[in-house]
Amino acid sequence: MKNLKLVGRATEARTIVRVSGVEFGHDFVVIAGPCSVESEAQLLDTARAVKAAGADMLRGGAFKPRTSPYAFQRLGLQGLKILEKARQETGLPIITEVVDPRDVSWVAEFADVLQIGTRNMQNFSLLKEVGKSGRPVLLKRGMYSKLEEWLNCAEYILSEGNPDVILCERGIRTFETYTRNTLDLSAVPAIKELSHLPIIIDPTHSTGRISLIESMSMAAAAAGADGMIVEVHHKPENALCDADQALTPDIFANMMKRLRPLTSFLNKLPPESAGKMKLAK
Ligand code: PEP
Ligand code: MN
Repeated sequence: MKNLKLVGRATEARTIVRVSGVEFGHDFVVIAGPCSVESEAQLLDTARAVKAAGADMLRGGAFKPRTSPYAFQRLGLQGLKILEKARQETGLPIITEVVDPRDVSWVAEFADVLQIGTRNMQNFSLLKEVGKSGRPVLLKRGMYSKLEEWLNCAEYILSEGNPDVILCERGIRTFETYTRNTLDLSAVPAIKELSHLPIIIDPTHSTGRISLIESMSMAAAAAGADGMIVEVHHKPENALCDADQALTPDIFANMMKRLRPLTSFLNKLPPESAGKMKLAK
């Protein structure tokens, strides 16, 4: 692929993105939390539960790119303050989405990682702004985007001087309607051939089905993913957005009990075969 000067994989070296003791590209990082920050009680309850179950980071949107203008939009600054409180109490670093270039610098004062959602993957002014933010960025794959287009968007961020980009496969649009999107698991090893950047998966927005989340998470770990971001809500039946796809704290805790032994087993495997380690053209 041409012009991937900074994100392309010229050597065997891999980027590790460090966020307060969490290492993307080294550990299997589990990010969990609600779709949106709805209230202090909702976020703190959920944060305590995911921490107890072994999550490494907390997610929660204070700004949301909603498909409908009538859907619950945001708590904005109030949401960021609630996230900050949850970080203080649980010690979990926080990731939150930014949707407008004008908000990047002040949202970066609260967030440990800035998230760019699928609908904004090619919002080039937003990409340039997060490139200057001094914060690690989670760049989700556009739902209609090829790997090359996605990597070019990461290139925008790196070319502004920010090396800390984590890619996230969150499902792409196909003809299938049983699942919300189609999780492209092959993107995980493909990105590892093409780039030195870490890649995680989002089993929530890709499947849209609680029943499929655990198996896709396990499969992603086996495929070499560097982690996952999953929606958990303390009372999913009351969630203001994405209620049907949020795990309860109990289901999340049970999944973690199965996932952690798998990731430690995978860590003990011998290195990948020489063929797989060849640098992609
Ligand atoms: C989200 O993570 O809440 C979200 C909106 O994800 P995506 O951009 O992948 O739809
Ligand atoms: Mn969501």
